[in-house]
Amino acid sequence: MHQIKAYSAANATAPLAVTTIPRRATTASDVRIEILFCGICHSDLHTVRDEWHSVMPTTYPCVPGHEIVGRVTQVGAAVTKFKSGDIVGVGCLVDSDHSCPNCHDHQEQFCRNATFTYNSPDKHQTAPVTYGGYSESIVVDESFVLRVPANLELAGVAPLLCAGITTYSPMRRWGDLKGKKVGVVGLGGLGHMGVKFARAFGAHVVVFTTSPGKKADALRLGAHETIISTNSEEMKQHAGSFNFILDTIAAEHDLNAYLNMLGRDGNLTLVGAPEKPLAISAFALLFGRRSLSGSLIGGIRETQEMLDFCGAHNITSDVEVLPIQKVNEAYARMVRSDVKYRFSIDMASLKSD
Ligand code: NAP
Ligand code: ZN
Repeated sequence: MHQIKAYSAANATAPLAVTTIPRRATTASDVRIEILFCGICHSDLHTVRDEWHSVMPTTYPCVPGHEIVGRVTQVGAAVTKFKSGDIVGVGCLVDSDHSCPNCHDHQEQFCRNATFTYNSPDKHQTAPVTYGGYSESIVVDESFVLRVPANLELAGVAPLLCAGITTYSPMRRWGDLKGKKVGVVGLGGLGHMGVKFARAFGAHVVVFTTSPGKKADALRLGAHETIISTNSEEMKQHAGSFNFILDTIAAEHDLNAYLNMLGRDGNLTLVGAPEKPLAISAFALLFGRRSLSGSLIGGIRETQEMLDFCGAHNITSDVEVLPIQKVNEAYARMVRSDVKYRFSIDMASLKSD
C-alpha cells in the first residue's frame, strides 16, 4: 500500500480539497495507472453532495472521478492484456463478482457485487470505500481496464468512459436508428455525446434544450434540429413524432412533456438521475403504447466496443480542459448548465498542490 495525492470532499457541503489517500499494492491481476485526464460527470457532483442519499448514501471522505484516462506504470505477474506504457481507460466499474448471470452476460454494471470506481465498498479493504480518478493514480483489475484507440486526443477520450458509454449503450439496445427520429434531451456532458452517436448511427437528431445559447452548438455537434423545451409552440409542432428519446436531464423536470413527443410504440430512455422522483401521467404512456425505460452505463465489453467505434469514427467529447484547482468552480458552472460540453481535468496539475 502507498499514499498518493487526491481531491476529496469531507462532507456534503465542503468544497473539494487536496488530501492524501491510500492505494493498494498491485496484486497479480492488477494494473497500476498514472492518471492523465479525468472527466467531471454530474454524478460526481450528485455523490459529493450526497444528493442520492436515499439510494446510495455517500461515505466521506469522497474522492469522485470515473472518466479516467492514463498510462500503465506497473502490471501484476498474471496480467496479459496490458504492459507498462500503454494508454488505457477506466470508467465507472472497477470490479464485479465475475460469476453471476449479469457478469456472464457481460452486463457487469448490474452485478449485485459490482464495485464502482468510487463510493463503493472496497473489497481489498485499502479504505472503507473506493476512491476515484481525481487522484494521481489508480490500481484496477485488468479485466476492468479498457484499451484506448491511438488516434484519439486523450482529454476528449476521458468522458467517453462514462458519458460515452451511457449514451451509446441505450441507443444500440434500441436497435437500428437509421432514418429514425431521435431526441436528445439536455445538451450537457451526456447529451452532447448522445447527439454525436445518434448522428453516427444515421438518425434524424433533434436536441431539446432549455438554453437558447446552445442552439448553434447543437447543430455543429450533429443535430438536424433543435427545440427550446420551454417554448410550448415549438414543443407542440413535434408532438407524437419521435421514435426514441434519450433524457439526460440532471434535475427535476416534467417527464410527460417528453413522453408526449413520442409516436406509436416510441420509447423514452432515462439516463439522467435527478435527486427527486419524477411524476408520470398514465395517459402519456397509454396513448401511443409508449414505453419508458432506464439505462445504466454499459458493460465492459460494450464499453470497449464503444471506444473502438469512437476510434473508427474519430469521435471524442468536446472538452474544456482545466486544472484540478478549478474543480469547485467547475461544479458551480455545471449546476448552471454552463458546460461546453464536458470538463476534463488535466491531472498533471495535481503535482503543483
Ligand atoms: P450535465 O453536463 O450537467 O448536463 C445536464 C443537462 O441537463 C444540462 O446541460 C441542461 O441542458 C439540462 N438541464 C439541467 N437542469 C435542467 C432543468 N432543471 N430542466 C431542464 N433541463 C435541465 O450532466 P451530465 O454529466 O450530462 O449528467 C446528466 C445526468 O445523467 C445526471 O443526473 C447524471 O448523474 C446522470 N448520469 C447517469 C448515468 C447512467 O448510467 N444512467 C451515467 C452518467 C450520468 P440544457 O442546457 O441543454 O437544457
Ligand atoms: Zn458519470
